[in-house]
Amino acid sequence: MDTKNNKQNDANLNSSPSGRLGGAGLELPNDLGFYGEFGGAYIPEILHGTVEKLKEAFYAIKDDASFRAEYYDLLKNYVGRPSPLYFATRLSEKYGTKIYLKREDLNHTGAHKINNALGQILLAKRMGKTRIIAETGAGQHGVATATACALMGLECIVFMGKTDVERQFLNVQKMRMLGATVEPVTSGNWTLKDATNEAIRYWCSNPDSFYIIGSTVGPRPYPEMVAFFQSVISEEIKRQLQEQIGRSYPDYLMACVGGGSNAMGTYYHFLNDERVKIISAEAGGLGVETGETAATISVGTVGIIHGFRTLLMQDEDGQITEPYSISAGLDYPGIGPAHAHFAKIGRTKVYPVNDDEALEAAFELTRLEGIIPAIESAHAMALLKKEIGTFKPDDIVVINVSGRGDKDMDTYVKHFNM
Ligand SMILES: *Cc1c(COP(=O)(O)O)cnc(C)c1O
Repeated sequence: MDTKNNKQNDANLNSSPSGRLGGAGLELPNDLGFYGEFGGAYIPEILHGTVEKLKEAFYAIKDDASFRAEYYDLLKNYVGRPSPLYFATRLSEKYGTKIYLKREDLNHTGAHKINNALGQILLAKRMGKTRIIAETGAGQHGVATATACALMGLECIVFMGKTDVERQFLNVQKMRMLGATVEPVTSGNWTLKDATNEAIRYWCSNPDSFYIIGSTVGPRPYPEMVAFFQSVISEEIKRQLQEQIGRSYPDYLMACVGGGSNAMGTYYHFLNDERVKIISAEAGGLGVETGETAATISVGTVGIIHGFRTLLMQDEDGQITEPYSISAGLDYPGIGPAHAHFAKIGRTKVYPVNDDEALEAAFELTRLEGIIPAIESAHAMALLKKEIGTFKPDDIVVINVSGRGDKDMDTYVKHFNM
């Protein structure tokens, strides 16, 4: 980003002085952290003061010029932003419309998660914190957090279900090389939900730690804060579309939703613009009717998990059902409160995308454009087939490629018999 663009960034952010979703006019979340009926802060008494202080610190830095300068400098010189907005010629020909890919896969550490980890660690530093904790499922957020901690010289503890430690060992090795302590969690099903419970438990006994949550989930202010740190994605899309096609908005925006951070970053500055159709992919797994799924919007009911109210995969007794997806980054039993809200009011359209559809889309993107996407991002690519009948030749479709496929090569090789 050059100085001129930085000024434009400032103008964008200043156009929503509250920093809330979609800019002026869309006053979400409300003062209690709710998006409609979803969100809030359902936390143990002992964390109340910690979370209040965090909220105040976040609101203080959001419109602070020196914070923004430090953050944007890291995004540019460390992460490599802006990430390209790439016109995908052969994919566009195939689908009979104009498809642009936002290349978050080209960021340092290979996905969008670093945007948020760096924003939160700068905030932690300003708050004088010295110990960082985080949860991770596939290990991507763990690696991003361990990276940010190495960069800042801070202690880092990452909670990870023992099953995931074994499944995602490369990321465990990376975290350890970066200096983080990986704590294998053996409660519940030994996966992400259990790692998050454990991180919250640790936070309760060590409230002076700074908890870097990896998605638009958790108690207020996390969903708003993570969306804010990811909003650089849509800020760049706006500017890049203006430069490339002379118009600052697309007809369609598409992204995959696990907890919802890459999607919310992609939608952020367009939520208020009704010309933009917004379409999300959630992980269908083997199919929503099979029970082997992580499609929270499709099968979830209202409940509370990890400090917030949302749609949740649970049985009649309120016990969380274990989600399933081929993609470790999407198998979370809940969903960010903003996504639950926007789906409910019809602002976003959400499709479950099954494992086989995602695999097919990953292969297609690889062979048509030479880009091997993360299996999570492949769920977003599969939305093209869901909407193919609605595209006009001149429509502008922007899809967020949230990460690269290195970590998924075993899955791809096995599936395609390569
Ligand atoms: C973690 C991850 C996701 C899912 O998380 P969101 O918060 O929903 O964005 C998607 N894509 C990639 C590449 C990831 O690493």
